[in-house]
Amino acid sequence: MPRSLVLERKGELSLRDIPLDMDMGPTDVRIRVHTVGICGSDVHYYTHGRIGPFVVNEPMVLGHEASGVVIEVGAQVRHLKEGDRVCMEPGIPDPASRAAKLGIYNVDPAVTFWATPPVHGCLTPQVVHPAAYTYKLPDNVSFAEGAMVEPFAIGMQAALRARIQPGDVGMVLGAGPIGMMTALAALAGGCAKVLVADLAQSKLDIIGAYPGIETVNIRDIPAADAIAKTTEGWGADVVFECSGAAPAVLGLPQLVRPGGTAVLVGMPVDPVPMDIVGLQAKETRLETVFRYANVYDRAIALIGTGKVDLKPLISLSMPFEDSIAAFERAAEGRETDVKLQIEMPS
Ligand SMILES: [Zn+2]
Repeated sequence: MPRSLVLERKGELSLRDIPLDMDMGPTDVRIRVHTVGICGSDVHYYTHGRIGPFVVNEPMVLGHEASGVVIEVGAQVRHLKEGDRVCMEPGIPDPASRAAKLGIYNVDPAVTFWATPPVHGCLTPQVVHPAAYTYKLPDNVSFAEGAMVEPFAIGMQAALRARIQPGDVGMVLGAGPIGMMTALAALAGGCAKVLVADLAQSKLDIIGAYPGIETVNIRDIPAADAIAKTTEGWGADVVFECSGAAPAVLGLPQLVRPGGTAVLVGMPVDPVPMDIVGLQAKETRLETVFRYANVYDRAIALIGTGKVDLKPLISLSMPFEDSIAAFERAAEGRETDVKLQIEMPS
């Protein structure tokens, strides 16, 4: 039985042996896990025991942002071989489902997703995974960067849903990890510049170091004033709401230009009010994002060619033995921490 990081119940983690299904099918690969990023959702399960309808009712292995090395391939696998360095998409749809047939497998009701109860995650030495959702990393992309593909994929999905046009001015509300990923994906997708708004200056300093990003500390200036100043009162072509904060959602009409787009990426814990008429009066196109579909190849290509550099967002890597301490630190929510990662023993 593999020693894994187990969320026993709300507020209680342990490093212990736990039985996991390791059966290989002909289209699967076995992967030695190398690096796993800690996600806000992992931390939320730890601190709250649930996210919406997903409740931790029995011990569950955490982690879904992973890279590793292929150590065994199923008989029908063609695009991967032993020794390949890879990253994995944590959501596995039913390929015969209606959603999967439409290419929107992220919203397949039958999807199983790592570390979403009752499915175990990947903070464990080995995983068996469908080869179709396992992606080879270019030689110049590290395992640490490979484990960043998953959160970056959400930014990619947001940029794609926005249908950015070259030269667009973007605005991102919220400088958490997903806000940062979205800002970088929006730049890569053609935005001339992206304003990132938050009230934590240390987060803004991290993302503001990237060329093309301008930061707005909303303690000093309202987001609406900042975008008005930048666009001579016209508004942002695309606003990405990544904070999940009710006032940010309510204020969207003040930020977006007439005929512009608002993309809802952040997930408010409770239902929040929306200024529908304010959005209607500008004929705002609203888009929503849930995880991602068909973006891993694009994300890896951007990282591999150096167009997107996620390394500055990796704040700290801790050994697997210190996983519980890593989660406690993540739960502290230090403003200077963007992404914490756990490295598995080799
Ligand atoms: Zn994640």
